[in-house]
Amino acid sequence: MKMGTEKQTYLNYINGEWIHSSTGKIEASLNPANIDDIVGYVQESGVEDVNVAVEAARRAQAAWRKLSGPKRGEYLFRAADVLEKRLDEIAETMTREMGKTLPEAKGEVQRGVNILRYYAGEGMRSIGEVIPSMDGEALMFTTRVPLGVVGVITPWNFPVAIPIWKIAPAIVYGNTVVFKPAQETAVTAAKIVECFDQAGLPAGVVNLVTGKGSVIGNAIAEHPHIHGITFTGSNEVGKTIAQKAVARGAKYQLEMGGKNPVIVLEDADLDRAVEATISGGLRSTGQKCTATSRVFVQSSIYESFKEQLLAKIKQLKIGDGLKEGVWMGPCASRKQLETILSYIEKGIEEGATLLCGGRRLVDGELGNGFYIEPTVFENVSPNMTIAREEIFGPVLALIKVDTFEEALALANDTPFGLSASIFTQNIGKMLAFIQDIEAGLVRINEESAGVELQAPFGGMKQSSSHSREQGRAAIEFFTAIKTVFVKG
Ligand code: NAD
Repeated sequence: MKMGTEKQTYLNYINGEWIHSSTGKIEASLNPANIDDIVGYVQESGVEDVNVAVEAARRAQAAWRKLSGPKRGEYLFRAADVLEKRLDEIAETMTREMGKTLPEAKGEVQRGVNILRYYAGEGMRSIGEVIPSMDGEALMFTTRVPLGVVGVITPWNFPVAIPIWKIAPAIVYGNTVVFKPAQETAVTAAKIVECFDQAGLPAGVVNLVTGKGSVIGNAIAEHPHIHGITFTGSNEVGKTIAQKAVARGAKYQLEMGGKNPVIVLEDADLDRAVEATISGGLRSTGQKCTATSRVFVQSSIYESFKEQLLAKIKQLKIGDGLKEGVWMGPCASRKQLETILSYIEKGIEEGATLLCGGRRLVDGELGNGFYIEPTVFENVSPNMTIAREEIFGPVLALIKVDTFEEALALANDTPFGLSASIFTQNIGKMLAFIQDIEAGLVRINEESAGVELQAPFGGMKQSSSHSREQGRAAIEFFTAIKTVFVKG
């Protein structure tokens, strides 16, 4: 049977029930590799649906927060088991819905499983500390309580891992959730929520409402009974969420864009640096917040680095991510393709030299998808748009530098500060890089993209609101501290 001929409608999930949105509107979620393939139909909800979901989450709060951490963790262990059983199916849905290759999608779902297990374990960890009182007679300690109802707003580029790394800590620490995924990957999101449902999570603890960001996301940001908002997405949207949260005293956490630099010094292992630049810059079609975007290469090795990079890029197989051997899939949507193409045009207009790529791929079967060539520019000056703004596509800017110090200064010359890496054997340069690079994720002899799930994740400057996600660090956002003083 041709894929997409079995069309399914996915519903909102509120108070443990799968229900249609109040608007009665649905929207098709398309496969960016083949726009004739409809992955499913999803709800285009309205503000009323958010209100109902928040009410359900509020009602569920009272019992959920009273449950012990280890007991809440048991639900996460069960959800992990369900997700693991459905790994292949959910990975395939992800690939069909946003285009990343199947091996990458499988890796991401496995990561989701691991995150659930990690936070299930976190439910058993102590959550406070005993502090000595001045007179030595009182018992003074801290304990942590949940925020209440948390709004989870997520992008399409990691449609399993990002929602899970927000929802898992939110609920294990006793919050209940209203989850609004990117509409581009709402089918994948519904399948994650199905896993929580199949794990027997009590009604109202996790609620799903799909729809437009400007409607549903905005309603979450403004809702007086949502006490915490955790957001991953663009800077533009992040800033509006922050303003709304501040205005009503809600806690917020933002993970946003990047313009991630890689520095390659003359003593670097060149093969490794080339591989890492390609992997960090072009995997997932460059649609990672931690993707390599600017590559500063020391002049003495610049030509050989460039030659190797271009030769390797030529060999990359582009196509439908479901097919074996494909290395890079399509852009996630028409909008994304058009944005990337317009940045490439700007790069050419502003005087950068196009070394390879730059065009939409429309040959043969690719003609029906949103494919783009991996693109490399050189002669990119720091004030050009392609050196300053996040492109979120498979576009690299090569920049020749004479010294480490010059590279470092240029690498820091951006409003972003998410991830950064350096390739060198020199311990002194490594240490100086760790100390002086303005980035939340610092990577030595390793690609810029990627961080392990048990480690804190987040950026500096405009990349983040500075509170960290993942690992133990997540407790800081998802709980409030109470300081208790007891005198007998
Ligand atoms: P986006 O900001 O357009 O959307 C993100 C989410 O916000 C979606 O669910 C969207 O529907 C919602 N939204 C849109 N308008 C809204 C509004 N007015 N109010 C509330 N919510 C609204 O981002 P995107 O295009 O989905 O994702 C790409 C961006 O995400 C890139 O900038 C990328 O760098 C960033 N990103 C960052 C990280 C990170 O951890 N730093 C990870 C992945 C992606």
